[in-house]
Amino acid sequence: STPATLIDGKAFSVALVERVGAAVARLESAHGVKPGLAVVIVGEDPASQIYVRNKGETTLRAGMRSDTHRLADTTSQDELLALIAQLNADTGIHGILVQLPLPAHIDASVVLDAISPDKDVDGFHVVNAGRLAVGLPGLVPCTPLGCLMLLKDQLGDLSGLNAVIVGRSNIVGKPMAQLLLGESCTVTVAHSRTRDLPDVCRSADILVAAVGRPEMIKGDWIKPGATVIDVGINRVPSADPVKAAEGKTRVVGDVAFKEAVEIAGRITPVPGGVGPMTIGCLLANTYSAACRINNIQPEP
Ligand code: NDP
Repeated sequence: STPATLIDGKAFSVALVERVGAAVARLESAHGVKPGLAVVIVGEDPASQIYVRNKGETTLRAGMRSDTHRLADTTSQDELLALIAQLNADTGIHGILVQLPLPAHIDASVVLDAISPDKDVDGFHVVNAGRLAVGLPGLVPCTPLGCLMLLKDQLGDLSGLNAVIVGRSNIVGKPMAQLLLGESCTVTVAHSRTRDLPDVCRSADILVAAVGRPEMIKGDWIKPGATVIDVGINRVPSADPVKAAEGKTRVVGDVAFKEAVEIAGRITPVPGGVGPMTIGCLLANTYSAACRINNIQPEP
């Protein structure tokens, strides 16, 4: 059989950012509304610093306002909540993102639920989780939204397909399940207590892996021709033993890619698949939040 088609999330995201940028320009010229995204980072975590810088640069590239609030890791929870209250009230800001993880002395769930649900562009607020669960319009978490965009782009109508999601986190697995249910898939959510996980995976026309375990899902767990979406981002020692000894690392997904690519019909590579989609969806959410807050019909 021929190897799977690679799903190029990087190219898709570049095009998405361009599309959002064009919609932003029209929103500003027709309605005088310039979407604004505020990103809050507490502490010096190097990976988070890079994510936040990239988000800021891409936000500006899409023609939006970008504010980055860098707070010391000694910031108290009350100080952080005060900043969120200020951003909730700021009419020039339509999206608020608090970069995770937060320092241990801050309760992330309290902070996330203090964000106005209408500005909650990460989609983590309980109100947005509830809206998604009951099928009301709201803000959807960026990573599963990006996965859904790729799936619809690849497969068109998803209705009736068997979807298996491995992982049930509030950030990826659960919202992914809600989205696919909304597309009329038959959805199975697997997790660490699932029995016969390989067999469950073999029933999937669409297999979404969001586990956080390097290359756990093997090639022979995949139904021939299935579409595989690998959300995992796992840092492992370099494949080259010399480089590994020097402490060099590489990133792999939750799917054993080399095996899977021979069996799947379509598959997202890691890196370059799901990962780059998240930023595009963040900007799409910020644009749609700006439209909603101003009672303007967003472009599709
Ligand atoms: P969590 O750790 O929150 O959730 C992992 C899920 O996998 C849990 O539901 C857990 O089950 C399940 N699980 C763990 N071990 C097994 C196992 N052996 N068999 C079956 N299920 C198992 O992770 P996230 O959802 O936050 O992230 C998942 C992956 O996606 C990570 O690699 C992360 O780095 C990546 N990620 C990538 C993003 C991006 O592309 N931008 C964004 C977010 C995450 P249980 O509930 O029973 O413990």
